[in-house]
Amino acid sequence: MRVLITGAAGFLGSHLCDRFRREGHSVVAIDNYITGTPENLAHLLGDGFELVQHDVTEYVHVPGALDGILHFASPASPTDYLELPIQTLKVGSLGTHKALGLAKAKQARFLLASTSEVYGDPLVHPQPESYWGNVNPIGPRGVYDEAKRFAEALTMAYRRAHGVDTRIVRIFNTYGPRMRPGDGRVVSNFIVQALRGEPLTVYGDGGQTRSFCYVSDEVEGIYRLFMSDITGPVNIGNPNEFLVGELADLVLELTGSSSEIRHLPLPEDDPKVRQPDITRARELLDWEPQVPLREGLALTIEYFRGLQERKLLGSPTVLTG
Ligand code: UDP
Repeated sequence: MRVLITGAAGFLGSHLCDRFRREGHSVVAIDNYITGTPENLAHLLGDGFELVQHDVTEYVHVPGALDGILHFASPASPTDYLELPIQTLKVGSLGTHKALGLAKAKQARFLLASTSEVYGDPLVHPQPESYWGNVNPIGPRGVYDEAKRFAEALTMAYRRAHGVDTRIVRIFNTYGPRMRPGDGRVVSNFIVQALRGEPLTVYGDGGQTRSFCYVSDEVEGIYRLFMSDITGPVNIGNPNEFLVGELADLVLELTGSSSEIRHLPLPEDDPKVRQPDITRARELLDWEPQVPLREGLALTIEYFRGLQERKLLGSPTVLTG
């Protein structure tokens, strides 16, 4: 197959490129490098892999046939989308429109990277795909949540109105190598802070929960969904739920760091709990995560230690209220 991946130079996009190349497919990778970097893809350059710097909110011209489009372009860390609110809304709306238009023109299968954020601060726990969510449209996180909800609606409209062959994956918190040190998400922040000997910044009392999926598991689920004939949304995430405070303790243990814990205010609309119900993925894709948190964290810590040895470990990004 020949597939186009938007947001290919980002954390998940680049791992997805690796996966499609490993399976022998050709990949056209596009990214505007706002939050991604071509360094994540440097090892793939060559036959069967094209990298184009382009903003998917602008008209996308791709010569030749395409069998699939995976739309992964978007800031995805809260610190990124709070800093890039308009770009986030544009890539979820205009960018999804361009990517769907291209899928229609090429008669390519389309997979939307959606998110657990469509459930907002959930009132149903764990979250099945049938839950419609609890999102504040006018809060700071609304720029991401509503962009992704709009993207899902547009994807379904292209399916119904134009017969585009679509898939929707709802991605839950994912971590692993190639997260940026300054990404701002909790796993990279805690590891970078621990390695730098700085306090670990726990927002609120650390009693909020998240369920963390190692990147290889996430990519396996997304790949299976893309190859399947499942058209409704599918949660792909790890259902093992942890307190943010517990994660901080685990990072301290695994890094051997003596950093302290510093509590900062909880960001506005920060979801109090999050855990995927993965019944659909289990039953329809025969998929479930394989990598336990301890193991995945150890691999991620190793990655950040590598950056530190090469003096590439920048500062974490911390929200200040
Ligand atoms: N968080 C934290 N310290 C940090 C970064 C994040 O305590 O330095 C918390 C954040 O408030 C949230 C959870 O960790 O409750 C996960 O945040 P993240 O930004 O990773 O992603 P989210 O799940 O909120 O999209």
